[in-house]
Amino acid sequence: ATLYTSTRTAGLTDDLTASIHYGEVSQMITRFVQEHTYKLLETVVENLARMLLLTLPSLQKVTLKIEKPWAPVGLPLKTVSVEITREWHTAYIALGSNLGDKQKYLDDAVQGLADTEDCIVEQVSDYLVTEPYGGVEQDVFLNGALKLRTLLTPEELLDRLHELEQAAHRERIVHWGPRTLDLDILLYDQMIIDTPVLHVPHIDMENRDFVLIPLTELAPYYRHPVLNKTISQLLKELLEGEIGFFIVAAGGHHFGQRDGHGVVCLSLIHI
Ligand code: ADP
Ligand code: MG
Repeated sequence: ATLYTSTRTAGLTDDLTASIHYGEVSQMITRFVQEHTYKLLETVVENLARMLLLTLPSLQKVTLKIEKPWAPVGLPLKTVSVEITREWHTAYIALGSNLGDKQKYLDDAVQGLADTEDCIVEQVSDYLVTEPYGGVEQDVFLNGALKLRTLLTPEELLDRLHELEQAAHRERIVHWGPRTLDLDILLYDQMIIDTPVLHVPHIDMENRDFVLIPLTELAPYYRHPVLNKTISQLLKELLEGEIGFFIVAAGGHHFGQRDGHGVVCLSLIHI
């Protein structure tokens, strides 16, 4: 096992609690392998890596190699082995709702991700009231974003988001139409993904103030891996480019102020 963690503090202070105790890790690995039986080496290392990453808070990444002697392949091989590397990833998720009890749908989605074993919700933005996008006549939206630490791959994370959308009884009827809950992956580390079912960074996010405003609250200096600009730069350019759009405060509040319920009132009015 190769464990990746910062040893700087322990190195400067000579304090073992600031590092990872390799004696304890060796015991954990031994116990885990004694207590679990799997058919595949792949399953042993996958579950072992997951257990270590979930148990040791300062472990960022782990490489595990398992070797099996006397593999029944009919050739004079000493061992066969499987080696994997697993690590925590950072993802930013956009939240949106414009049907029913919008705040509850967003809160339930945050809770749903917090309850997901391989996910840690690190930060949630304020929720914003925004005008609908895409030209379909419908109610205003409540939008937000959250920062996630996750062991899930992007595809697994998308599946989990779809499950949470289903749990909110989302029906896909009109594209850009009303929805109880919309959950999108905005960013996943610095990864660029273009498959038929998944685009990361999220397509068109640089043109959506309801995405960039909450994201700026969480990650102003995060760099968009394709556009090579920070999130706050993208927001600034978008707002400057929206000639003819004014940010006005709904209900007499100013942009950035809370209305007492953790919701920032914002609407963009086209003049
Ligand atoms: P939208 O979010 O664009 O309003 P939907 O929520 O109905 O529309 O998403 C339609 C499809 O978009 C999803 O089924 C998913 O496969 C695909 N998709 C592509 N990239 C992403 C992403 N980054 N996050 C979420 N869904 C995505
Ligand atoms: Mg979506």
